[in-house]
Amino acid sequence: MKTDKIFSVKNDERNTHKIITVAGLKIKCKKDKIKFKNEKINRLKQKIENFIIMHDKSLDVGIPNNIVLQLCFNNDCNCKCNFCTIYHQQGLASRIINPDIVYKQLLPLYPKTLTIFPTYGEITHRKEGYEYLKFINEKYHHINIHVESNGIAFDEKWRKLAIDNLMSVNFSINGIDEESYRRTTWDKEGIFTRVQENIKKYIEDLDKNNLSEFRPSFTCVLNSTNYQNTLQFIKNALELGIWKICFYFDCRENSVNSMQVKDKENFENSLMTLLELEKLLLDKVRVGFRVYMPCKNISEYEEKVAKMSIEDLKAKYSDIWEIVKDFDTYKIYQAKTQKRKEQGKALYSYYIEMAGNCYNQHDYNGTMICENPDTHLRIREDGRLAVCSFIGYKDSYNVYNFMENGAINWNKLFNDEYRRRLRRNFRKGNYKGCMKNCIAARHIKTADFKTMYKES
Ligand code: SF4
Ligand code: SF4
Repeated sequence: MKTDKIFSVKNDERNTHKIITVAGLKIKCKKDKIKFKNEKINRLKQKIENFIIMHDKSLDVGIPNNIVLQLCFNNDCNCKCNFCTIYHQQGLASRIINPDIVYKQLLPLYPKTLTIFPTYGEITHRKEGYEYLKFINEKYHHINIHVESNGIAFDEKWRKLAIDNLMSVNFSINGIDEESYRRTTWDKEGIFTRVQENIKKYIEDLDKNNLSEFRPSFTCVLNSTNYQNTLQFIKNALELGIWKICFYFDCRENSVNSMQVKDKENFENSLMTLLELEKLLLDKVRVGFRVYMPCKNISEYEEKVAKMSIEDLKAKYSDIWEIVKDFDTYKIYQAKTQKRKEQGKALYSYYIEMAGNCYNQHDYNGTMICENPDTHLRIREDGRLAVCSFIGYKDSYNVYNFMENGAINWNKLFNDEYRRRLRRNFRKGNYKGCMKNCIAARHIKTADFKTMYKES
């Protein structure tokens, strides 16, 4: 129901009277006899709208299945990346999440959880992080764990846990060699080499355990210090058999809001390389790069690439094509699914396997819409909440607000006014406040989506 049908104040046709509508009843008053304060009217309208949202049963999800728990387990890190927006730049005191949250309050959600996804600080930096994921692996083995790591402390015990859990691991590499790593990421000797050694040992262990499909993914932050390394970064990854590679344009150096980009020429060259390889490597390697991209109109570039033929791209990137010509992401996905089934893990769709845990989608009336307000729960170490990686925290939105008699009321949390409003907006195709170019906001017809992601 629309708020206007319950309460509205409008001018009449001759602009001499106000027509006040209250629950279907219309009252006409001379304009000069009645003084309205706009902010009071707006406040009343807001209250009515909230009432409608809170009483719209179709917006209820209860405690959903397939929950994605994105936990900021700890806010500290053993690295000092120049482009870090989250840890050492803020000078925050080191802190880990309250054990009461992860060992007690979250227990009712674990049986319904698809993925636990520690991000924000570096999980491998804390022994408590290892102990927590070991606990999840032992008690809730069905949950898929996705770890994002800089690789510095990814030692034998982490490799063993990753293999036992069939973990997805992403390493943020941010360099093609020692020199480029020190220039772009952290000017400290030996770090790049140490990370490479840890990754090579992990890949060897996966191969020994017949789990080659669970090879890690790699990410790289791109900025004016390394745009020219985009292609080499991909080649290095492919030579290690990596089939998911993701780039992030540095949002400290560029402004996503005003679309300002430092070193535009090299940014454009890098973006074109990525678009061309995304097209060429479709179904062979996942190449991602659309998070916080400082680019107002990516379709300008996409249109240029759409005109290029695959044959021309194969010729242009012949060395890359030679490495990947037998790669097949769908076959890898099927092999992973089989191994997950054998271990009783919760299963991923091919879409989630490719897009990652932040972009859940579901069908609504024949169109795919973002599912994050239903199932994605991001909790920061101080209790702050968000529905997504790409929508900021609000100080007033905190897990402790939902505490009742010592227990978090999860039903209330998943069905509060904020999440319901987002659900309603997304159904209407309104993604205001979301990240520009977000792949979950594309509003693709469900039938087309199923074809794209091989769903029956
Ligand atoms: S690894 Fe991540 S959290 Fe650590 S300093 Fe680098 S960007 Fe920040
Ligand atoms: S559409 Fe919005 S909520 Fe969904 S993934 Fe994108 S930014 Fe997040």
